[in-house]
Amino acid sequence: MGLLDSIGLTRLKDGLAKTRTTFIGKLNRLFFATAKIDDDFLVHLEEILIGADVGVDTATLVLLRVKARAKEQRYENPAELSSLVRESIADVLLGNEKKNGDDPFVLHTVTKPYVIMVVGVNGVGKTTTIGKLAFNYKSAGKNVLIGAADTFRAAANEQLEIWAKRAGVTIIQQVQGSDPAAVAFDTVKAAQSRNADVVIIDTAGRLHTKVNLMEELKKMKRVMHKCIAEAPHEVLLVLDASTGQNAIQQAKQFDAAVGLTGLVVTKLDGTAKGGIILAISQALKIPVRFIGVGEQIGDLQPFNTETFIDALFDKEPD
Ligand code: GDP
Ligand code: GDP
Ligand code: MG
Repeated sequence: MGLLDSIGLTRLKDGLAKTRTTFIGKLNRLFFATAKIDDDFLVHLEEILIGADVGVDTATLVLLRVKARAKEQRYENPAELSSLVRESIADVLLGNEKKNGDDPFVLHTVTKPYVIMVVGVNGVGKTTTIGKLAFNYKSAGKNVLIGAADTFRAAANEQLEIWAKRAGVTIIQQVQGSDPAAVAFDTVKAAQSRNADVVIIDTAGRLHTKVNLMEELKKMKRVMHKCIAEAPHEVLLVLDASTGQNAIQQAKQFDAAVGLTGLVVTKLDGTAKGGIILAISQALKIPVRFIGVGEQIGDLQPFNTETFIDALFDKEPD
């Protein structure tokens, strides 16, 4: 099973504890109080879904599925009602899923290096995610180089150095204030000459509404593309799960500027509104690739809808 072994699933469950306790707790209370699926039940279900930040569109689709399933399926007790709702959520989400490979850290490309650019607003967890990603690629036997293209914030280099050291990978950097595109260029060139497998480029946080800062990202992309025609192979947007619905605006604007290939949703451990994942996969046609469930290097999980729903609905590990 690779990364999602039992340890991974336990971590995921731990990471989703806040969401599970509130969301599933409310659902269970509703299921116990429900004799039949009627309007009253649906209204309460909708409230709970929206309270968990799944978004109005997802909630509406889930309710439609619940109604449809209720016609087909018998439900005689709270447990059956629970699986009916859980399967309805799965129906909606799996419909959005874009299949990733079984193991996301196996590279399916012939060109080397494989270049990943990481973008997002300030403080969402870009640098932390890069440390975790580097660690995972390194553990999968890849030779990784990190480019410190957050040249804007003081101490950004030091923070990334700490993560690179933890992950056991090399970092390419310049002094604060350097052109981030120059760092990206240096890193890709260094990776080519060292025959590295993976390049991960950190970038400074920026508001999705700042046009000049978006232009800066485009420039970085162009520069890397000049070195390797397919680069960057991936542009990952990091989103903080506790941001709520604004995450969707961020994703739309970053996507318009630099063309996102995937999303990373962090800090799921810190929020009871983990349902934002459902809203994000519903609203955007961009796959959620990874989720962050803690601050440690092992706290990055490949996102898989089924596993996510399992972890969400499962009872606390005994
Ligand atoms: P950046 O500004 O986007 O590079 O964000 P950082 O990587 O510096 O992270 C900002 C803060 O978020 C740090 O305190 C991280 O430890 C924390 N953080 C990042 N990812 C996670 C996560 O998945 N869970 C939790 N609880 N904290 C996280
Ligand atoms: P403003 O952009 O005119 O509000 O001025 P600021 O003092 O916020 O920033 C001056 C310049 O620094 C901007 O034009 C950007 O080039 C850069 N800058 C400001 N904030 C950020 C940030 O969060 N990230 C990055 N990468 N650059 C920033
Ligand atoms: Mg950072």
